[in-house]
Amino acid sequence: MTTNPLFGAMEGGGTKFVCAVGSGPDEIVEEVRFPTTTPGETLDRAIAYFQKYDLSAIGLASFGPVDLNTASPTYGSITTTPKLGWAGTEVVAPFKSAFDIPMAFELDVNAAAFGEYSWVPENRRPETLVYITIGTGIGAGIIINGKLIHGLTHPEAGHMRLPHNLKADPFPGNCPFHGDCFEGMANGPALARRWGMPAETLPDNHPAWELEATYIAYAVVNVILTLSPQRIVLGGGVMEHQSLFPSIRGKVRDLLNGYIASSVFSGMMEEYIVPPALGKRSGVLGAMAMAKKLVEKG
Ligand SMILES: [Zn+2]
Repeated sequence: MTTNPLFGAMEGGGTKFVCAVGSGPDEIVEEVRFPTTTPGETLDRAIAYFQKYDLSAIGLASFGPVDLNTASPTYGSITTTPKLGWAGTEVVAPFKSAFDIPMAFELDVNAAAFGEYSWVPENRRPETLVYITIGTGIGAGIIINGKLIHGLTHPEAGHMRLPHNLKADPFPGNCPFHGDCFEGMANGPALARRWGMPAETLPDNHPAWELEATYIAYAVVNVILTLSPQRIVLGGGVMEHQSLFPSIRGKVRDLLNGYIASSVFSGMMEEYIVPPALGKRSGVLGAMAMAKKLVEKG
């Protein structure tokens, strides 16, 4: 058992919750996962799990959209999700009632960005990093000068507009709000609907991947031009198709066309556009980093 302070970390997803207790990625005491059912049942289960431990702080991450404005009366809740029964759910409040310790709350993709930022060795840490998740949904967590960006709500870069050549790709997109935005064109369900088979069954040589890499590259280029990040992490279920990486890197280089004067574009960009160093655990370990930061600040 570790002698370091123990932190609780929760990553609440639309299909499952992951909870962990520990002091860092190499000092995990216990990690559990359970299915997302009703809000009451699921959050009670997470609370009961954390109550087994003497924790110094808790980091909570949730699928969104969420209210991150601490001055808002609905701070700490999920706002407009289409997930049945979860719109308006207060995530932080039940934990506040159960524990009298510092607590941090973030959108899941923000926590993943913070995890990727926090747990890399300090001398290799980029101060500006963007984590894009491409799965059932698409979202981006943005860290500028070591801080997660919040604003009106939180960035929703997954819904940015991309060039869409309707002749080459007549698929209209599946975003209920925007049709052919980034998420509508490139999330897992869009792949499945466009090609008539689940993304994970599309063979390596299927044209689906070339088109997918093109859309992701457009989005990555927009992010590079807007935020000038020092690292871009691409995670989520769709990115488990590893051959997307070299393809995206090449397309990004072609689209930038030599415009950005940085040595990162002269090489293979293997350390610039990268898979998550923490694998599927960026979110829960990011929540742990959020909890740790609260205690270090105090
Ligand atoms: Zn959209």
